[in-house]
Amino acid sequence: VPRSVVHMLLETADAFPDRPAVTFGEVTLSYAEYRQAVLALAAMWRQMIRPGERIALLLSNSLDMAVSTFAAHAAGAQAVPLNPAYTLRELTPILDDAAPRLLVHEAGLAADLVRLCGARGISRIETGGGGATFLGLAEGPRQADPRLVPSHGQLATLQYTGGTTGLPKGVDITHGQLAVNLAQREALLPTERGGEVMLCSMPLFHVSAVAMCLHLACYAASHLVILPRYRPDWVLEAIGRHRATLMSAGPTIFHGLLGFEGFGRADLGSLRCCYSGAAALPEATLQRWEAASGCVILEGYGMTEAGPVLTYNPARGPRKVGSVGVAVPASELQIVDPERDGTVLPAGAVGEIRVRGRHVMAGYRNRPELSEQALAGGWFHTGDLGRLDGDGYLFITGRRSEVINVGGYNVYPREVEQVLLEHPAVAEAAVFGAADDYYGQVVQAYVVPRGGARLDEQALIEHCRSGLVRYKVPRAVRSVDSLPKTSVGKLARRLLEPIGSTAAG
Ligand code: ATP
Ligand code: MG
Repeated sequence: VPRSVVHMLLETADAFPDRPAVTFGEVTLSYAEYRQAVLALAAMWRQMIRPGERIALLLSNSLDMAVSTFAAHAAGAQAVPLNPAYTLRELTPILDDAAPRLLVHEAGLAADLVRLCGARGISRIETGGGGATFLGLAEGPRQADPRLVPSHGQLATLQYTGGTTGLPKGVDITHGQLAVNLAQREALLPTERGGEVMLCSMPLFHVSAVAMCLHLACYAASHLVILPRYRPDWVLEAIGRHRATLMSAGPTIFHGLLGFEGFGRADLGSLRCCYSGAAALPEATLQRWEAASGCVILEGYGMTEAGPVLTYNPARGPRKVGSVGVAVPASELQIVDPERDGTVLPAGAVGEIRVRGRHVMAGYRNRPELSEQALAGGWFHTGDLGRLDGDGYLFITGRRSEVINVGGYNVYPREVEQVLLEHPAVAEAAVFGAADDYYGQVVQAYVVPRGGARLDEQALIEHCRSGLVRYKVPRAVRSVDSLPKTSVGKLARRLLEPIGSTAAG
C-alpha cells in the first residue's frame, strides 16, 4: 500500500519517467512532466495555505483538474472537488460546509460566486482557457520532492456524495483510505501493472472518475486520456485514435454509446476491459455492449463513503453477470435485517449491505450524529439492499429508501425496471412509488421508447403482468422523451412526479 496517492505518482514517475501519463486535447504529459507540474503547483499552494486547510476545485475535466487534484494532496491540503456547473444556490451550502481556504476555478466565474467567495474570505485562483494553465509549471526546472506531507491518518479529500437522495453530504477521506482502496483494486487490471490506455469521459469532480480513472491509471503506470465531458462521438473517436484498452464509465454512457448512430462504424478492437459502476447496469445493456464490442464489462459497486470501491468483478478471476462482484480484499461485507438491527442474514437473503474495512470513511464533515448512525457498531450502513450468493458475489436490489410498500408488500424498483426493459420498445425505465389512499403506495413507471418506437402503455402493463405478481405491476405507465438525471447521469428517482391520481382498489 503506497503512503498516499502522491507517493504513488512519484513512484510511477521514477520508474517510467518517459511514458505518456495523461492526455487532454492535443497535449500529452509524460510521467516526469506530470510529477513536475504537480510538485511545482503544490509548492506554490503551500505558500498560500496552512496544512490541513481545504482547496476547492471547481473545474471541468482538463489537465488542470488532474494536476490540481494531486497538487492539493502534495501541498498537504484536503482537496474538495466540486461540480463546476453548480449554481450559487447549489454551491452556497457546500462552500459553507467545506469552508475552503482556496477556490480554483475557470475563467468567467459567475459574479454572484465571486461575491460569495469575497464574503466568505475564500481566495480564488483562476485558470486560463484550454484547461492546461498549470502546464507551464511542467516546463520549469525540476522540482525537488517536497518533504512529503501526506501520511495515512491525514485527510486527503472532502468528497461530496452524488446528491441522488437529497443534499450532498461531505465525506472525509484520509490518505490511508484512498491508498488502501487503490491497492484493493489491483485485480481489476487485466494484466500485471503497466502499459494500458484508459479513457475517461466521466467528470473528475465525481468520486468514481477519481478512483477508477485518475488514480487507477497512475497506479497501473498507464496513459490516461481525459475527455472534456461525455459525448458519444468523442468517446468513440478517442478509443480509435488512442487505441484505448480500458474504459470506466457509468451505465448511462454504455447505453448512450449503443444508441448512437455512429456506433456501428466505430473501431473498438483495442478495448480489453470496461468497468461500470455508480448505478445499476441493466443486463440488456451489458449483453448488447459485449456482443457489439467484443469487450467485457466488469460491474462494480461503490460509494463516496467507502473510499469508494466496495466490490467488483475482477479482471483476473471469475465474474458473474448481474452481480457487482466480491468484496475488495481485506474488507468485510454483511447483509443484515434492517428491521431487526444487527441480525446477520445468510446467503440468499435480501437485507441491508454493511461494510467494514480500512477503506471506509472517517465520517461526514460537520455531521456528528449522521456519522455516528452511519457507522454504528463499527460497520458502515450503506442504505443499499442486496444479497450474497454462496460464492460471496453481491447482487444489489436497490436503495432502502426507494423500496415501494404496496399494502405491506415490498417492491424493488429495479426488478420492475428489469421487466420493462425486456420489452423491445423500451429503452429506459424508471419505477417508483406513488402515494395511494388504499394501498399506501402503488407502483408507477416512466419509460423512454427505443429510437422512435411508439409505446402502447396498456400493452406494457400487460407485458409486466406476464412476468410479475399483481402487486408489482405498475398501475400507471407514461412514455416520456427523457428521465431526470443527476449531474453524473444517475436516475434521480426522487424527482419523478406521480402520474395522474391513482384510484384505490
Ligand atoms: P447521495 O448519497 O447524496 O444520495 P449517491 O448515493 O448517489 O448520492 P454516491 O456515493 O456517488 O452518491 O453513490 C453511491 C451509491 O450509488 C450507492 O450507495 C448505490 O446506491 C449506488 N451504486 C453504486 N454502484 C452501483 C451498482 N453497481 N449498482 C447499483 N447501485 C450502485
Ligand atoms: Mg449515498
